[in-house]
Amino acid sequence: LVAGDHQINPRKLVPALIEALDRDPGFRLIRQRVTAVLRDGGDTGAVTGVTLDDGTDLHATTTLLCPGVSLAGIGNLPEADCVRLRPVHGDILRARLRPGQPPLLERTVRGMVDGRPVYLVPRTDGEIVIGATEREDGFDGVVLEGAYQLLRDAQTLVPGAADLELTEILARARPGTPDDLPYIGRLDGVDGLVVSTGYSRHGILLAPLGGHLAAGLVLGTDITTEDAAILAATDPRRTSPHTSGATV
Ligand SMILES: Cc1cc2nc3c(=O)[nH]c(=O)nc-3n(C[C@H](O)[C@H](O)[C@H](O)COP(=O)(O)OP(=O)(O)OC[C@H]3O[C@@H](n4cnc5c(N)ncnc54)[C@H](O)[C@@H]3O)c2cc1C
Repeated sequence: LVAGDHQINPRKLVPALIEALDRDPGFRLIRQRVTAVLRDGGDTGAVTGVTLDDGTDLHATTTLLCPGVSLAGIGNLPEADCVRLRPVHGDILRARLRPGQPPLLERTVRGMVDGRPVYLVPRTDGEIVIGATEREDGFDGVVLEGAYQLLRDAQTLVPGAADLELTEILARARPGTPDDLPYIGRLDGVDGLVVSTGYSRHGILLAPLGGHLAAGLVLGTDITTEDAAILAATDPRRTSPHTSGATV
């Protein structure tokens, strides 16, 4: 029992952040995909902006890319191949109390069932999120075994879960790195670009820290000793095969 334990609903967090940006007159929100980065002198120089889905070019002194697991899908950036990201899929169930059913949980319950981790997270609106498996087969859909495992283990941990209404089953990819630390910083030999990705299982928890550090790099603000230590640990060049002294 952790007295101060709390949780964030990512399905509310992300729209709230987008709305906050949208309302700020200092920002211009563009709802398009980035297809490629622009490079000085063709395809090897400093990054000078991005090309959007509709062919529009956006120019910038520094570009920040945070595309989760899809960094290698952004064109004109062969250096992204040195960043070792892999999809770590997780199946997740959503359930809710049936009408008239008394509350089941007051706080997050985590446990191990036959060595497998499982958690149940009660949301304030009565929804209960049950997760989360881990697999590295590259498959985007829900695998029956994963769903079965979660249903079985959640009921073992909290028998009353058997009475919930099952509302959703889905699978998503976590952007995994070799050492499970994020990649926040510059790519080998690429000026004008900062990347922020590889948050693995902790991207919601680490979002404020990741945002703070990436903004510091983009804006060139003074970096504290503590931030410098984190940036050293999360430097994308640590896993590059071309960087001498690569440790992973
Ligand atoms: C089942 C499961 C359970 C999890 N549980 C937790 C948890 O309990 N706590 C926690 O902290 N974290 C958890 N995570 C991890 C967390 O979801 C990730 O670490 C986090 O989402 C990573 O954030 P991100 O913004 O870096 O990447 P993403 O969330 O993947 O976001 C990247 C965004 O960039 C967009 N994008 C990609 N390419 C382009 C492009 N070319 N142009 C424009 N946009 C692009 C994508 O559409 C996407 O919206 C969980 C993940 C899974 C799958």
